Amino acid sequence: MAKRDAVEDKDCDSTNQKKTALVTGGARGIGRAISLTLARAGYRVLVNYYRSRTEAEALRCVIEEEGLDAELLRADVSDPNEVRKMVTQALLSSSTIDVLVNNAGISHWGLLTETEESMWDRIISTNLSSNYRLSRAVLPLMVQQQSGSIVNVSSIWGVMGGSCEAAYSASKAGVIGLTRALAREMAPCGIRVNAVAPGVIQTDMLSGFTEEELDNIAERTPLGRLGLPEEVAEAVLFLVSDKASFITGQVLGVDGGFIG
Ligand code: NAD
Repeated sequence: MAKRDAVEDKDCDSTNQKKTALVTGGARGIGRAISLTLARAGYRVLVNYYRSRTEAEALRCVIEEEGLDAELLRADVSDPNEVRKMVTQALLSSSTIDVLVNNAGISHWGLLTETEESMWDRIISTNLSSNYRLSRAVLPLMVQQQSGSIVNVSSIWGVMGGSCEAAYSASKAGVIGLTRALAREMAPCGIRVNAVAPGVIQTDMLSGFTEEELDNIAERTPLGRLGLPEEVAEAVLFLVSDKASFITGQVLGVDGGFIG
């Protein structure tokens, strides 16, 4: 059986229709794993990227070589106009957007007293307000079809707070609040909204940590290691799928037991 036939037979959900998923920051790290996992599950994936053009094009090659479907969409999710344009552009080739994964994010380490207002604003805009912007742009489509699923990528630091990561922790705690509120608001329309809260996952985001610090985090993790992007992606795939049809407003920890 040709690769494409195999994928089409697999169908991405019980309706047997190819669904479209938009993944922000989808070219690198956890976002890349989510894009690839959703594509392999039969979704048409709209991969948003900002500065990672090379990684985005490499990912498209991988997806297309497997006979799967992906489109690249460049936009800075911290810019409301770029988000609006991106969704308009997405709808030129996709009739709707069934799944939104708000993954794009940036980190910042430093004492709160040394965090400039401009940095605070940048973190909140990229990590939290982006989820508001994307949800606001995509929800009317989901409301129209009375179905849809949103997964927001939070963090263990959004649940428990991280020292020297106050801005990041606040943005990720905000993501959890947004998730829970929006889940209640959208449930009557058949739209589910959930979050994942990854622990420490091996991506470029860890480049600021020393080997010793990472070993220390692994030791404090009950499963004794750091996580992989693919492990977060599998949790996202579950949450957007029909297998999670009665799950909304939840925050699924993917953290090796870090938060007991
Ligand atoms: P990463 O740095 O590899 O990926 C971040 C992605 O977001 C990149 O693709 C980047 O281009 C994109 N991005 C950043 N700013 C953007 C903008 N303005 N517009 C569009 N895209 C933008 O790191 P990652 O670990 O893969 O992070 C992905 C998500 O997971 C982030 O939200 C991060 O906060 C979260 N997270 C990561 C960890 C971890 O340990 N790696 C843990 C918990 C949560």
